[in-house]
Amino acid sequence: MTQSLVLNATFEPLCVVSTRRALLLVLEGKAEMMSATGRVFRAARITVDEPSVVRLVYFVRVPFQARVALNRRAVFARDGHRCQYCGASAENIDHVVPRSRGGSHSWDNVVAACRPCNTAKRDRMLEESGMKLRRPPVVPRERTWILVASGAIRPDWEPYLPSVAAGLTA
Ligand SMILES: [Zn+2]
Repeated sequence: MTQSLVLNATFEPLCVVSTRRALLLVLEGKAEMMSATGRVFRAARITVDEPSVVRLVYFVRVPFQARVALNRRAVFARDGHRCQYCGASAENIDHVVPRSRGGSHSWDNVVAACRPCNTAKRDRMLEESGMKLRRPPVVPRERTWILVASGAIRPDWEPYLPSVAAGLTA
């Protein structure tokens, strides 16, 4: 199923919806087309460009935290499916400060890890294990939830994702 990126009236990425839904938003006058997929949608009396990116006419207030649920899929998307200790392909989620040592299950304490690193670290603190994080874990920005929601980021969505330009993709 084709999906479309929905921007808030402020141009901030808001959500990913089916292209059909995005088209309805445009036809109902609730959103304007920013970028088209290049295909057209044909119904009984109309032929319209299929939207790839639409922008809402009215501002919608959404708390950022609500959009990025902390789960395995989202952590892997944020960390590029790479172990944050050695760079190998990640299979596990590691708590930097172990749960048994009071570490929280929060964005700034979970990283993707390969099985050998996850096993090697056990329930030790970072300093005790002698292991190093490639970068500190942070609350993800929009690229992560868009990846989780859509599976892929279309090239014409990139201009609307500021964190891409800011180099978060490393
Ligand atoms: Zn590793």
